Amino acid sequence: MNKAKGERGVPLTVHVPFGYRKDPEDKTRWVVDEAAAVVVKRIFKLCMEGRGPTQIARLLREERVLNPTAYKRQIGINTPSPETGDPYHWNTNTVVHILERREYTGCSVNFKTYTNSIWDRKQRDTPLEKQAVFYNTHPAIIGQEVFDKVQEIRQQRHRRTKTGKSSLFSGMVYCADCGAKMRYCTTSYLEKRQDHFVCANYRNNTGSCSAHFIRAVVLEDLVWMHMKAVISYVARYEKHFREVMERKLRLSGEEAICGHRKHLAQAEKRLTELDRLFLRIYEDNVAGRISDERFAMMSKAYEDEQAQLKVEIQTLQREIEAQERQIENLERFIQRAHKYEDLDELTPYALRELVKAIYIEAPDKSSGKRRQNIRISYDLVGFIPVEELLKQETA
Ligand SMILES: [Zn+2]
Repeated sequence: MNKAKGERGVPLTVHVPFGYRKDPEDKTRWVVDEAAAVVVKRIFKLCMEGRGPTQIARLLREERVLNPTAYKRQIGINTPSPETGDPYHWNTNTVVHILERREYTGCSVNFKTYTNSIWDRKQRDTPLEKQAVFYNTHPAIIGQEVFDKVQEIRQQRHRRTKTGKSSLFSGMVYCADCGAKMRYCTTSYLEKRQDHFVCANYRNNTGSCSAHFIRAVVLEDLVWMHMKAVISYVARYEKHFREVMERKLRLSGEEAICGHRKHLAQAEKRLTELDRLFLRIYEDNVAGRISDERFAMMSKAYEDEQAQLKVEIQTLQREIEAQERQIENLERFIQRAHKYEDLDELTPYALRELVKAIYIEAPDKSSGKRRQNIRISYDLVGFIPVEELLKQETA
């Protein structure tokens, strides 16, 4: 009964996520609970601004926002959670749970957990690709783009420094030479101007990477200048920007797709070959030409390889799809850039919406002065040849 319902997309959760309530007309549907939805939106916004779950939890407590359990009790909804002493106390886990709930984008996710059998009732997490997702089953509280961005930020979860300070760039700065993440270093007794990023390989003293070091204030200036150039270019010369980027994306995209397609074909070929090989050793085993032990060993090896190939094939297919969506992504990027036309200082939110990663190159001292180049990979579109664009403008 539940299985059939779940396959139709009827939400199976008995306890509706914080931010929704059951529709009084139809108990199987969820409607937005405005007061709670405001809090959910706030939590996502704070995350976009670079705050971690612990900081968010603390902030909500300071602002005396009721936690979900206390809130539900107050409006008279049953909840399984035990009463907590302080109705304003937010657990870090509660915040994390909210940030990870896909239901806020308007979809229902059923069969998130499963039990092996009636004898083994331990709830296990279903792998993401096997969960049943139904889109637009209820109004969204969080837009898909913001939700995806937040998952990305959560993946780059960074260690905070001992002083508790974190940089708005944390988790997105990389060494251009060795590819390692650059670590944010700060001390409470030094002034802010001394806070800096340093290549993780250098810090570990492996000697593999040396001179990569940039002060946070310098980085902020460079990034902001670059972003401003991009935003204003899009504002003034949208058409030209689109042409240049389309050409660039198409070129790099076609190369990448070509490579992926080739790998994909190889993987698929090997997969069918393994099927054939398996059949052969099976027949050999039945005919007594190879021993049971040998058969077991070989079939295990084949199965392992097959499992690995299947994962590989899935990843490749996903990458090909992503490449094919690039032109669509370019349009989305242009819209976002327009949104920030009037921005007059770098905000963490704008940074996360526009920029994906920042690569720090080794300083160039050939001119006698320390010059440092950075390269910015923008969200959705990758590198933008700003200097080239500006040169054409003056030409
Ligand atoms: Zn490095």
